[in-house]
Amino acid sequence: MKYISTRNAHRQLSASQAILQGLSEDQGLFIPDKIVHLELEKCLNDDYQTLAARILAPFLNDFNEKQIQKILHHAYDHSFDTDEITPLVHLKEVDVLELFHGPTSAFKDVALQFLPHLMKESLKIQDSKDEMIILTATSGDTGKAALEGFKNVEQMKIIVFYPKDGVSEVQKLQMLTTNGNNCYVIGVNGNFDDCQRMVKACLSDKTLIHKMKENHQRFSSANSINVGRLLPQIVYYFKAYLTMVKNQQIKMGEKINVAVPTGNFGNILAAYISKQMGLPIEKFICASNENNVLTDFIRYGVYNIHRAFKKTNSPSMDILISSNLERLLYFYCENDEMIKEMMEELAVKGSYEVNDLVKKKLLKDFYGGYATQEETKQIIHEVYEKENYLLDPHSAVAYKVIKDFKKENINSYKTILCATASPYKFMETVYTSITNEKADEFEMMKRCETKIKIPIPSNLKDLKEKEIRHHQNIEVKDMKKVLCELLGVSYD
Ligand SMILES: *Cc1c(COP(=O)(O)O)cnc(C)c1O
Repeated sequence: MKYISTRNAHRQLSASQAILQGLSEDQGLFIPDKIVHLELEKCLNDDYQTLAARILAPFLNDFNEKQIQKILHHAYDHSFDTDEITPLVHLKEVDVLELFHGPTSAFKDVALQFLPHLMKESLKIQDSKDEMIILTATSGDTGKAALEGFKNVEQMKIIVFYPKDGVSEVQKLQMLTTNGNNCYVIGVNGNFDDCQRMVKACLSDKTLIHKMKENHQRFSSANSINVGRLLPQIVYYFKAYLTMVKNQQIKMGEKINVAVPTGNFGNILAAYISKQMGLPIEKFICASNENNVLTDFIRYGVYNIHRAFKKTNSPSMDILISSNLERLLYFYCENDEMIKEMMEELAVKGSYEVNDLVKKKLLKDFYGGYATQEETKQIIHEVYEKENYLLDPHSAVAYKVIKDFKKENINSYKTILCATASPYKFMETVYTSITNEKADEFEMMKRCETKIKIPIPSNLKDLKEKEIRHHQNIEVKDMKKVLCELLGVSYD
């Protein structure tokens, strides 16, 4: 298996090369050039790590079995609060796939506990002594999850840029209290897209890269543009399906739907890849908040970012440019020239339209919908009252879109809802949805704990006592300059 760039299919890299590089030089994203089928029957009794090894080995074909075991051991042996890693909770209308049992209580841990060790082994395979500079833009959860994954990992430095008014108070505290000796956390006076655009520009800045090379440093990315982020996310879709088969909720081979609260399109793309590998998924329910670019795109085939950027109560989905969509488009049209043109149009005009074939495929595979902030709160309330289950705002957005989907479609398949964050991470929205009261963030956590009798995750509970270690705030235009200073290279 080789990895090719979505904007130049002639550029072929091995897995370890693609993982170390992050983004292709032509600004394209790396994708595997073929997808291996998985025999579901064989996996029925696998635990999480056995299943993960089985799924990932063909994608990581320049890694040996021992290396893959080692990476999985580092990622999943101790850092999650349950051996199931991603447990499934049965509710009346849906099965909730809880993806938030990792060290930062967000689904990104599943990939970001894995990626640093994957990079470390990649460096060994490539026989490189360079220092890896992990440059990350975050809308909240990636930042802390990346910091937790990379902190104190040798040969790596992690630099996180976050929109200083665009993340929740808890998310901000989580990042600012990180204690690794190789961690830098910097607030930016702008939104997530500003941060991501600047990070992407730096990652492909030839002059900067050259200077770093002389300094024995090289960039990579922990954002979901890195294919090493995408791969471990495939595993839990299989795990959830096999669990439902084992619990006799479905028969082997029976179709299901998956509903995913979507921002950068990474999680739902992993679901799409799992279908290509043989997982019987009927519909991908793509749920957005009021930044509903994807809803319109799926319905009309026009991607258009000419709209107001909204700060919502599901901040990790406050995104106008969903990077991973580029990978789906490549899978659909397998035409690197066309992808390049569309992405250039997006960069220049802020919009592009896909052809009729792609429109048809989108409508067949996906259902796009969105929830307003008020609807999100209503759903949190409703599910709590009916099921005594607390959804976080992102997961509630997906729940709302499932309801819309069922109203509009005859589709009797069971649906898996990806729950992407612990409700304890977004207390202001969650607690005011179920009580109409408001209190200090940590007080609300305590009161919720009493109500739902599920312990506050320890990483959140201890947060208030921790020391703030990062104080820097900057303007968007200064991002590159600040980066150069950190790296010890000259700024021009
Ligand atoms: C990152 C994130 C999302 C969006 O996931 P994508 O893979 O970027 O689509 C949804 N919910 C939460 C809580 C997140 O942290």
